Amino acid sequence: MTVCSINKPDMFPEQNQIIDQISESVIREMTRLAEKHQAINLAQGLPDYPCPSLLKAHAQDAIGADENQYSFTYGLKALRDAIAAKLLKRNQLQFEAETEITVTCGVSEGLMATVLALGEPGAEFILLEPCYENYLPAVLLSGATPVPFTLNAPDWHIDFDELAKHFSHRTRAIILNNPMNPTGKVFSTEELREIAMLCQKWDTVALCDEIYEEMVYNEQRHISMASLPGMRSRTVTIMGFSKTYSVTGWRVGYVAAYEALSARIRKVHDYLTVCAPTPLQHACIAALSLPEQYYDDLKRFYYKKCRLFCLGLEYLGFRFAYPEAAYYVMADFRDIFNGNDLKFSDWLLIDKGVAVVPGSSFYFSKKKYSRMVRFCFAKKEETLVAALRRMGRKIFRDHYRHVNKNGLLV
Ligand code: GLN
Repeated sequence: MTVCSINKPDMFPEQNQIIDQISESVIREMTRLAEKHQAINLAQGLPDYPCPSLLKAHAQDAIGADENQYSFTYGLKALRDAIAAKLLKRNQLQFEAETEITVTCGVSEGLMATVLALGEPGAEFILLEPCYENYLPAVLLSGATPVPFTLNAPDWHIDFDELAKHFSHRTRAIILNNPMNPTGKVFSTEELREIAMLCQKWDTVALCDEIYEEMVYNEQRHISMASLPGMRSRTVTIMGFSKTYSVTGWRVGYVAAYEALSARIRKVHDYLTVCAPTPLQHACIAALSLPEQYYDDLKRFYYKKCRLFCLGLEYLGFRFAYPEAAYYVMADFRDIFNGNDLKFSDWLLIDKGVAVVPGSSFYFSKKKYSRMVRFCFAKKEETLVAALRRMGRKIFRDHYRHVNKNGLLV
């Protein structure tokens, strides 16, 4: 009988060289390891607190009301209308719900659909590293060539003369994550303008992942690349519900792009996933009805976590630039540990019970190892304090000189 042998991997020679080039996600692997070792998971960007109850109620209602079948592949019209209104109000972007907005299974799928729609052998995509893990596999799967450009630590500034050298007539797109994971960098208007000029000069698309748009820790509102003069017709804006509403497991995001490009992205999206989960799309309409206060509170909520956790890291002896946005910090551990990022992450996981992401996971050009790790601080304050406490007793003592009875920083 040979029926069972069909499951044996050696029956299938590894023929796909693209897949061979792609590693499994270290971020997701760290979550599995965190569970295995019962460590506090500061690796993957997911909150350990609930989403707003309004969203839960609307999702439950939609399931109860039998909204459980496929939606249109582009997403529910009512959700696309709500997204169009939100883009206008919060991002100064005007996109047509009918032809220019596509609801996807999270930003990850929106990004993949866009890269597959744009990429082909011979085309190049510029990636700014350290960069979020998913971008590289997306480019490779499309058959295109990734072109890495490294931002300068510790403040993650861009050398624009150098960046300009990475553009050519082969450049199909530059992938820009603004605010940026894993660095917490916010691109200034000046920086966005410089990048826009390069896109215009080389007839290149700006592919902008703006999932952290609502977590900018200063008075300024997030600025979308597509809102800059001349950029609407060459920018793809990808946003989502996961982070702003703490529903990372729902997988609902959206892509806004001019009509001709949207039509191409929609084809890929349809064959990838057909549609995003229908009842959750209904709940996302409700999410977009939350008042301005929600977003003000959200900023404060994360800023407080950022301060608490970063002060703790500072006491422990890490070096880093304070995040300007998002909920990660890339911290240099060279003053407190003698070894590379993989060894340090192992030590934190096994000896200290804290899971983080090794910094090298966000680089693919040259560095095999790094002296940085990424922490996610989208956690309850008690989780953050527990993680700091596990990492060092001294820090725990010092930390509590700076907190009041309620556990809040003073
Ligand atoms: N964006 C988050 C991170 O960087 C979550 C990634 C994911 O697993 N989809 O950790």
